[in-house]
Amino acid sequence: MNLIGEHTDYNLGYVLPFAIDKNALVAVRRKSQLDPGSQVLDFASTYGAGGELPITSITVDELVPRAVPGWAAYPAAVLWALNQLDGVRIGGLELMVDSDVPVGSGLSSSHALEVATIVALDDLYGLQLTKVQMAQLTQRAENEFVGAPTGIMDQSASLMSQAQHALFLDCRSMETQAVPLPLAQHNAVVLVIDTRVEHSHVDGGYAARRANCEQAAAALGVESLREVHSIAELEAIADPVARRRAKHIVTENRRVLDAVAALRASDLGAVGKLLCQSHESMRDDYEISSEELDAAVEAAMAGGARMTGGGFGGSAIALVKRERIEPVSQAVREAFDHAGYVEPAIFTVIADEGAGRA
Ligand code: ADP
Ligand code: MG
Repeated sequence: MNLIGEHTDYNLGYVLPFAIDKNALVAVRRKSQLDPGSQVLDFASTYGAGGELPITSITVDELVPRAVPGWAAYPAAVLWALNQLDGVRIGGLELMVDSDVPVGSGLSSSHALEVATIVALDDLYGLQLTKVQMAQLTQRAENEFVGAPTGIMDQSASLMSQAQHALFLDCRSMETQAVPLPLAQHNAVVLVIDTRVEHSHVDGGYAARRANCEQAAAALGVESLREVHSIAELEAIADPVARRRAKHIVTENRRVLDAVAALRASDLGAVGKLLCQSHESMRDDYEISSEELDAAVEAAMAGGARMTGGGFGGSAIALVKRERIEPVSQAVREAFDHAGYVEPAIFTVIADEGAGRA
């Protein structure tokens, strides 16, 4: 889940996510013991299954970008990306998923699934990939095979996070720092408000924002918006939409650096203000918020709040004092009820250890 630094990853900027205490479990077994040479891949998930688990079966030859329909595209994408590596040949296997990461909520259930898959296969095939390699392979899987033009942040958070810390990641160098989250000292928690308005990043909005950023970078003659440090420089962008999008990226990178400094100084009030500013920037400049997300942030704003994830639906997060969890949740539920929105799911999360063998 992302604390701050939204849509900055594919602009090679800074992000500050953390892994949450929700897990995607993947179990894998090679078919070769029973059926040597098998090229059949069986996928099953407890997600959305009533009683009997439907199994999706394909063969290794059918691992073709954009050709696998439905949810199995995500684990299939990871197999495909691994098979692109020299000397790796993943054959017939059974893969079973059980995840409690909310789907389409901006908490990145897709990357949780991909990361769990790659960690399991790395272990099963003794590949000894580094975390950075795993992050890059799952990005390639999601971009090229599934067709969602997402960045490097979510999977890096799942792979590299430490408990009770946020992960400060420079998406250009892939260098990381674990930044302690001083929540307990302030008797505070991170509250997630899932609007239950599902988004999908295979749709156009996300790709359109990426294209706006590339257009802005091209207009400025830089490789990425990471290289822009002040909004004054953006006046050279003729197109007002591209200029606004770029403004979000430039100011958001600054906010990530400021949030890291504020966390290190244990100044949670300053972090809260940055969250609110980040939300305004996404609402007004990047235009990826929704009515429901704005309402959630408005109602939960006291300690700092923002939408999180790719946008166009999904979840908001808020910094809340422990004793305020109930009143804040109640205020959000009332605001949603009053506006006629679907009842949100509200829960706290803790910063947990990243992926590993269970
Ligand atoms: P997000 O990553 O924000 O949750 P996405 O649209 O990127 O949203 O990914 C959601 C998709 O990931 C689902 O539609 C489904 O295809 C797949 N997925 C996520 N979790 C599971 C699961 N437990 N079992 C099967 N598929 C899953
Ligand atoms: Mg996703």
